[in-house]
Amino acid sequence: MVDLIPSSETVMDILKRTGAFREGHFVYPNGKHSPHYFQMPLAFRYYDTARVLAVGLSRKFRVDRDISSQLPKVAIISPSSGGIPVAFGVRDALSAEQIYWAEQEGGKRMFRQYINKGEVNPCIIVDDIIRSGIAIEETAELVKALGSNVIGCGAIVRFTSAPDKLGDVPIRSLVEFDAHMYDTGEACIDCKQNVPVEHVRF
Ligand SMILES: [Zn+2]
Repeated sequence: MVDLIPSSETVMDILKRTGAFREGHFVYPNGKHSPHYFQMPLAFRYYDTARVLAVGLSRKFRVDRDISSQLPKVAIISPSSGGIPVAFGVRDALSAEQIYWAEQEGGKRMFRQYINKGEVNPCIIVDDIIRSGIAIEETAELVKALGSNVIGCGAIVRFTSAPDKLGDVPIRSLVEFDAHMYDTGEACIDCKQNVPVEHVRF
């Protein structure tokens, strides 16, 4: 079963092939510059690659006895829209009972109305990519406020600068990516070489 977890190289090949991993000279909405950019939904637009990625991530949860012993009474939770296809794929692979996703409403991360305290199974939070860890931390707070607890957490890609734990729960991923970010254009190597910039929206 463990053999079916795709290697980091295999996952990066999929992300490059689908256009989800891009190399160039990018400027983020927060003004940071970077020589690479992940647009993960591009990998999830193809059913076959979406399945390989989600099933691969699910295996990392399946081998955890604390998680596997609680299946199928588990909820798979996405912090945002980007994680929804990951959540559905992981749910399928684990036969988990529930799926929830949070959305931004007026700048605040929330679940939809009428989800009541006590209804949410023990949770696995999954996302397509973890850059800072803020989204999963906010989602964990929402889960606790609904009277549930986080038993697992993971993403297809985790930046090594992000946390590798959520409380006591390890954050699992298929790729640990050492992201290069420059706070300003002055610090950016590509700017110094006058490489044309591309502005990215997320
Ligand atoms: Zn630059």
